[in-house]
Amino acid sequence: MPPNPPQPPNTVIHPGGVPDCPACRRVAQVRTLEYPSFICELSETVVALHKHQTWEGWCVLLLKEHAEHLHELEAGRYLRVMEDVRTVARAVVRAFAPRRVNYECLGNVLPHLHWHVIPRYPAPIDPDPGSTVWVRPTHEQESGVEPSRQAELIRRLHAAGIGQQG
Ligand SMILES: [Zn+2]
Repeated sequence: MPPNPPQPPNTVIHPGGVPDCPACRRVAQVRTLEYPSFICELSETVVALHKHQTWEGWCVLLLKEHAEHLHELEAGRYLRVMEDVRTVARAVVRAFAPRRVNYECLGNVLPHLHWHVIPRYPAPIDPDPGSTVWVRPTHEQESGVEPSRQAELIRRLHAAGIGQQG
């Protein structure tokens, strides 16, 4: 039987953020209310509406502290992150009634740990329900979102139970 692998040290977390990390900057912006797509702060993550909304209700969760590898998280933190992901997914389902929800934790472009919660709809609302959104044409992936629509989608997510104030 192979020996147990060494346990990861807690130094994988960088509470003060790391220089030049766009996600660390966004987390700092959320805390000064300079992030218009902000939805709420949960146990381990901050939640925002994705900047492109071809798939209505697409949310992104950013770990509040800089870490880059899911497998390196201490078990309790890992479970709290997953609970945050589930909380967002449940709100997305209540708000938008998608056919499915895709969960994506990639890190290829932005290493700071983050999750995409992507609602998927039947065709033709969803341009291709059978494929991952990342293979879709640029004009679909980078559709942007009008500020008024962004605000309305965030209101619907608040009404679905996340990030309500008071
Ligand atoms: Zn970071």
